[in-house]
Amino acid sequence: MNAFRIGFGYDVHQLQPDYDFWLGGIKLEHEKGAVGHSDADVLIHVICDALLGAANMRDIGYHFSDKDPKYKGIDSKLLLAEVMKLLREAGYEIGNLDTTICLQNPKVNPHIPAMKSCLAEVMNIPESSISIKATTTEWLGFVGREEGVSAYCVALIYQV
Ligand SMILES: [Zn+2]
Repeated sequence: MNAFRIGFGYDVHQLQPDYDFWLGGIKLEHEKGAVGHSDADVLIHVICDALLGAANMRDIGYHFSDKDPKYKGIDSKLLLAEVMKLLREAGYEIGNLDTTICLQNPKVNPHIPAMKSCLAEVMNIPESSISIKATTTEWLGFVGREEGVSAYCVALIYQV
């Protein structure tokens, strides 16, 4: 039997005015955007962390330091492509990903098909392997107060 491995990712970014809001590889129109050293795409960051965790390859900050000027404002899709390269070099392929985005506003659901299509292309896997779910936190906590966005991902990988 091929070896299956599971990984988990969690991440948070602040939301502030005058920042772009990149989420799942696409840019959302909103009065606030996500703050970070890179483009602050929280969904891509949790996918990277879940995949690296599944392969026991540390985390996104270990590979792409937020102290390194090289990664300032970088498109997180490039980081995800690099993680996929590391994963495939180690002999792994993705079984499936299941993700949840926690965001009070704007509504994420209308954008999910575009996110899936974008991420499937970056990762070179079928859209059917990527699940993206969205929830609010019912106005509770930092997500509910629209101060931030968080996300979770679990990933199943297997040795090819
Ligand atoms: Zn992040």
